[in-house]
Amino acid sequence: MSLAERVVSALTEIVGADNVRTDLRSREPYGVDALGQGRPPDLVVIPGSTGEVAAIARLCDERRVPLVVRGGGTGYSGGAVPTRGGVVVSMERFTRIIEIDERNLLAVVEPNVITAELQRAVERVGLFYPPDPASFEKSALGGNVAECAGGPRAFKYGTTRRYVLGLEAVLPTGEIIETGSKAVKNVVGYDLTQLLVGSEGTLAIITRITFRLVPKPPARATLLAVCADVQTAVAAVTALIERRVVPAAVELIDAESLQAVRDQFGHELAPATAGAVLIVESDGMQKAVDEEIEQVAQACRAVGATPVTLATSEAERERLWNARRLISPALRATGLLKINHDVVVPRGRIPELFGVIDELRVAYRLKIAAFGHAGDGNIHVNLMIDGGSSDERARAKAAERVLFERVVALEGSISGEHGIGFAKAQYLGIELSVEEIALMKRVKAAFDPNGILNPGKIFP
Ligand SMILES: Cc1cc2nc3c(=O)[nH]c(=O)nc-3n(C[C@H](O)[C@H](O)[C@H](O)COP(=O)(O)OP(=O)(O)OC[C@H]3O[C@@H](n4cnc5c(N)ncnc54)[C@H](O)[C@@H]3O)c2cc1C
Repeated sequence: MSLAERVVSALTEIVGADNVRTDLRSREPYGVDALGQGRPPDLVVIPGSTGEVAAIARLCDERRVPLVVRGGGTGYSGGAVPTRGGVVVSMERFTRIIEIDERNLLAVVEPNVITAELQRAVERVGLFYPPDPASFEKSALGGNVAECAGGPRAFKYGTTRRYVLGLEAVLPTGEIIETGSKAVKNVVGYDLTQLLVGSEGTLAIITRITFRLVPKPPARATLLAVCADVQTAVAAVTALIERRVVPAAVELIDAESLQAVRDQFGHELAPATAGAVLIVESDGMQKAVDEEIEQVAQACRAVGATPVTLATSEAERERLWNARRLISPALRATGLLKINHDVVVPRGRIPELFGVIDELRVAYRLKIAAFGHAGDGNIHVNLMIDGGSSDERARAKAAERVLFERVVALEGSISGEHGIGFAKAQYLGIELSVEEIALMKRVKAAFDPNGILNPGKIFP
């Protein structure tokens, strides 16, 4: 009998029999996220209140049962997937938008509100929640906070971190804490709120989130610039920054990614001869948007992008963004194994990053599709390999290490938004010093003395 099976009756008493899953078929979906690796938990429990979460944590802590929290299950680093069996706590019943406070520009939500649902709800009253991971129709806000999700709009608006004012969370030992407040300024004690943002479900279980909102921009304009090659697209990004233009989003898509979207979904974003495209969106007051998008168009044309076209209707704009969102599904649909890395470098070093990608293609004989948030230097580098070929897997593994080493040498980071999970734990030492890792482990031990919460994640 597994450890988790030994707590099944006590867990059933806490959440009721309807909210405990023991059979394999029901558990299987909880053993995988977008990374596509893992195995089912021994048990799944689905609490309905913070009190129940606290009771589950206390029980698992006492009995030393590993506990993994799950939101929307769209993570790319295996964060929500158990590595050592145990209990998955699925937050799927925490789906209420508790409050939209129009006077104070705030929203208070439960953690499994889907990202797009909050966006739509606040936009109905003229407000705006900017973080927009491409998974926004499926990812949950608790998962967004735990991973500090970004998205195209992070260029102008920043990542999830910037919008989190306060949290209610349950410690692995069962205590309930409230961090931060509804005020936009707060310097009392250590900033536990921001410590929990990006902690990948390893420090506490988030049960309520207070988000800061901003007014909804009244106007926006979206532009597509077709480029002969990636270098031209990168030069356009540099030219934008030189003009001191900060649009809401600057997304770059390379030829491999365009080809996948064309082949798999018949979506012709650009002619087959295009080497890359940029999608740029400006938002704000109408006059400012008109001026800004004109600057963007001029910068793109100045480096040789052609054609440079403006979306003239909402349908056209949606077509562009839909193509961008289809890249990941299209790459997966090729049948190749997609090993996705979300490396990030300082903006000015994007040309060097693409130089590294070219070198890896040649040196390791790999197909690599690269796309992403060029505005903030965060590029998704996808090694596309034949999963059945051990030789190709070995080459990809070697290339991945070199990619991470080179990115750190470029003063960047091995993960801009997907987190470490178990997928990248072995590479932590490439970026962090021994002292930093030791300090982080002491922080982890302060929150989770018995190491029950999401073991096997982040640390090698
Ligand atoms: C097609 C696709 C596109 C994507 N695009 C983007 C993108 O543009 N930008 C981006 O940043 N990411 C992107 N992602 C990755 C993913 O969507 C994000 O990491 C997202 O934030 C995960 O949210 P989730 O609710 O699915 O979390 P899950 O996968 O369920 O969990 C992720 C981590 O958060 C922890 N967690 C979840 N809920 C809680 C909670 N209540 N309390 C404490 N810890 C919790 C889990 O334990 C786990 O470690 C994409 C994924 C896919 C599949």
